[in-house]
Amino acid sequence: MEKERGRWVCVGRLREYPQTIGDLEALLGESGPHFELDGWMWCGRCERAYPVGEIRVMKSGPGWGYYEWALECPTDGCPGRRADWYPWHPNELPRAIHAGYPAVPETGARYPL
Ligand SMILES: [Zn+2]
Repeated sequence: MEKERGRWVCVGRLREYPQTIGDLEALLGESGPHFELDGWMWCGRCERAYPVGEIRVMKSGPGWGYYEWALECPTDGCPGRRADWYPWHPNELPRAIHAGYPAVPETGARYPL
């Protein structure tokens, strides 16, 4: 998997791709939680929160593989992908079990489960 991951290149942040923001399903070719661009996401791998627009947009190398596009967690070195993320919402993890977590999180701050 590491060799395969090396073929992905970060081509920007999600906020730089307004034409794709409302259509994450098409971008990824898979289903998952719904995110609003002006909202926040929490990554279950690194347990950090970010504005949705900070999500890294990845593109695979020429002729490589079926998944031409992917989204990756903003934390350096975190392999978190969409399936690992939750909208920052009181009914979603981790806020559902940590009522004291703020309504607006600190960018990149760790909020343990
Ligand atoms: Zn992460």
